[in-house]
Order: sequence, then structure tokens, then C-alpha cells
Amino acid sequence: MNQAMLSKEFKTYEFTHSFIIDVLTWAKDNPGTTIYTDINKSTMTINLKKMINTNRFRGKLQAYVLSLCNCNEIELVYEYYLSFTHNYFKILSGQIKVSINLTKKTISEIKPFFDYVYNNLLDCKSLWDVYNSNAKFVKRNELRKLLSKSYKVCPYCDLVDMNDPTSSNMDHFLPLSEFPFLSVFWGNIVCACSICNGHQIKNNNWAIPILHPYINGIHNNTRFIFNKTDKSIQIEPIHLYDNSPEVNFIKVLKQNIRYNNLWDYVQNEENEIVEEVCELYNAYKGDNWKPIHVIRSVEFRRREHLSNIGKITHSRLRMGYCDYFVLKEAELSMKFLESENKKRQMRIKERQQLIFEEC
Ligand SMILES: [Zn+2]
Repeated sequence: MNQAMLSKEFKTYEFTHSFIIDVLTWAKDNPGTTIYTDINKSTMTINLKKMINTNRFRGKLQAYVLSLCNCNEIELVYEYYLSFTHNYFKILSGQIKVSINLTKKTISEIKPFFDYVYNNLLDCKSLWDVYNSNAKFVKRNELRKLLSKSYKVCPYCDLVDMNDPTSSNMDHFLPLSEFPFLSVFWGNIVCACSICNGHQIKNNNWAIPILHPYINGIHNNTRFIFNKTDKSIQIEPIHLYDNSPEVNFIKVLKQNIRYNNLWDYVQNEENEIVEEVCELYNAYKGDNWKPIHVIRSVEFRRREHLSNIGKITHSRLRMGYCDYFVLKEAELSMKFLESENKKRQMRIKERQQLIFEEC
């Protein structure tokens, strides 16, 4: 999947960009405003005026915008916002380098506004009426359901079905604790499982450069290492250099911990492969059987798992095992089948000999 292939649901919150720009522009143009009544006397866009004067938000929204215009680094926040939202995917991939050094004080001054927009305003029809009047109003919970239909499994681990609302939630890929200004940026919102999103795994961890779970295809950039002796599963980056997007993804999402104790799935995949290979051998009745049939059979399974990534849980792991099997196990299984074939042909010869002698 790449950005162009993302379904339109992923961009549902794109409209919030104009609102954030209106607010940040106002805040940097009106530094030091402290009195509520001065807000209305100042110049701002018609849309922002409508929002600020909506009875329901007047008190809170006005308090938050006052906090923004009294933030010493508001110009910097504005620049970060623009740069991160315009170049988000290039920044994540490392193509564009941006240092982030907002002070703790700045973060504490701006975060309440961005939290409020994410936690409250997104679910308020008034914001949609003013800034996105032609679109259907979609509450956060409905959007989570829509996203989970588009990408049915957790895009971080590939292990949990996203259809169950109790096991999925919305994650801010670059965390709000450091990047509060990305609270409603569509590219930064990922519908993920509550285990990956929880304290044990991702929590507030982040790194740049890093793979984006919807855009980069984790399966194209990482591979599984299987150890049959201790039944362990490790994930490693395809490119092994330090601080690569792959290395950071594995680290931030604690993929090696996430894939602990999943050997049953690996064993199950192997059993199915062996069963298929034996069926194939029997179908060819030996004579027409060729070792390449084993590889073709496993490659066919691999293609199926690949097409199921994002749709069926564990597809990434199963596909990884098919790759491993072709590399390490196929030769053994081919040797076994070849010796079976030889034995079979010997038996046929012996039988023919017997019939010939009896005649
Ligand atoms: Zn997950």
C-alpha cells in the first residue's frame, strides 16, 4: 500500500487543517492577548469567528486560543505544524530531516488546545458545519469502525482483528506528548490494537526515521527468523544499518516482544505446508512428481498470505514462514520425497518382476 492507495476514509480529518491554520495564524498575529473581549475585536477569518462565537465552545475555546497567543514559541509551533503536515511521510522516511526542539513549557502551553480539538471538537457537528459543510459528519468512533473495515487487522503487529471495538483504538503514531500539534493530522492517526498501543509496547515511544504502517508495507522491509530448536521468532530489518526506518519500527513497536510465544501458529503453518506437499506428491503418483512442485506449492501459499495482509491476522507471520521454508526446509522435504519416490519405483519394479516370474 502507498499513500495514493489509502482509501478516502484515512483522510476524513484532512479538513481540520484550515481550522488549525486559522487558529495558529490568529495566535501568532495577536501575541499577548489576555482579555476575552479583545479576541472578538481582533481580525480573524469568518470561519474562526463563527467557531469562537458558538455558545457551546465560547469559554473553553477562547481560553485555549489565549494560551496559544501567549506562547513565546508560537511562531515555531506554526512552522513545525506546516512542515510536519506538508512533509509528514518524507520526514518519517528520513528524506527530509527536521529537528524537533519545542520546550516543555511550550508543549504544556499548546497541548491543551490540540487535545481539546481531538477529544471534543472532532465529535462536534458545529466544527464540521463550519469547516467541512459538504461532507458527512463522522464521529471518531464511526471513523475507527470505517478504518478497521479498510485495514482489518492491527497494522503494527498483524495479530489482532480490528473489527472488535474492545480490542482496537486510535493511536497517534508520533505521540502527542512530543508532537501535540499533530493531534488531528490524518496521517498521524492509526487504528491499532490496544496491546500495541498500550504501556507494554508502544506507549509514547517514537523514532524518526521510521516505517509508516499503512504506507510502507512492513512485510516488504522486515523478515522473520525462525529457530526451531528453541521455538523462537525474531524479526529483523532487511537493511541492517543503524537508525534505519526498519530498525526503528521494530524497536518502537517492540516487534520481537510482540511475536513471543507464537510458535503454535508457525507449527500450524508448517503442518499445512507438509500436508499440501504430501497431497501433491500423491496426486502425481510419483512418476510425474518433480522437486520443483514443492517450491511452487509453497510459493502459491506465500502469494495467498501476501494478498491477505491487512485482511486476515497472522498473514505476515505465515508469509514469513513460507519464505523460511523455501530457504531452509524445502530441500529436506524434497530429499525426503525423492527417496520416497525411489522406494516407490523399486516396489513397482519388484511387483512387476514378481508378476513376470509368476507368468
Ligand atoms: Zn497490534
